[in-house]
Amino acid sequence: MLDAVIILVSNDDGVNSQGIHALAAAAESLGEVYVVAPDREQSAASHSLTLHRPLRVEELSPRRFAVDGTPTDCVNLAVCGLLPERPGLVLSGINKGANLGDDITYSGTVSAAMEGTLFGIPSIAVSLVAGDAYDFGPAAACAAALARRVLQAPLAEHTLLNVNVPAVPRAEITGCYVTRQGKRRFSDAFVEKRDPRGKKYYWIGGGELGFVNEPGTDFAAIHAGAISITPIHLDLTHVPSLDALGHLALEWP
Ligand code: MN
Repeated sequence: MLDAVIILVSNDDGVNSQGIHALAAAAESLGEVYVVAPDREQSAASHSLTLHRPLRVEELSPRRFAVDGTPTDCVNLAVCGLLPERPGLVLSGINKGANLGDDITYSGTVSAAMEGTLFGIPSIAVSLVAGDAYDFGPAAACAAALARRVLQAPLAEHTLLNVNVPAVPRAEITGCYVTRQGKRRFSDAFVEKRDPRGKKYYWIGGGELGFVNEPGTDFAAIHAGAISITPIHLDLTHVPSLDALGHLALEWP
């Protein structure tokens, strides 16, 4: 039995989102679940940490807390003292929308898992690829199955799992692949408008963005209707450049 382990569940869609309820419910069979999540949507909050104002925590019900901060704040507070003991697993999600390729650098969902990983806790980020309908069932089942495995066989150091699940009925999911992080085709589109006082304002990220359909990537798996599991490593060093950029090491002083 794994019932002694504490499982921390967070997200970036907010403590009241449907996806976090589904994830917390799915994790109940694996341990003692604590939900510590932002009190409102914090999508695209990245890995930001609140350092210039106090954070307030509201206990909504037993083992369920709302924080007026970012996903990273939530995991940090939870691990550093809100929970009765250190969690054995951090689950983040289930995000309403994909976290694929370069987009993960903006993702609050993935950042919550990064924070867990920085504390040395096995962490999994789970996202449902946006569709018209949001059935979190298959993604929740997938998260629970992966969490069970990760609790039994830990991940490599500094490594989290970024999981994306197609938003289709379970029987329509075509497979499940371990993938590498793919690449976006960024568009330079943005929306410029004028407010009622004639002043310009802008919206970033208007329109559908494409992706590079390279085999073996998270994008390719999702495009093929399959679940994508990407191991993400937090050491961002580009190792080949260590030698290739040796000439940059200045003679100093
Ligand atoms: Mn989100």
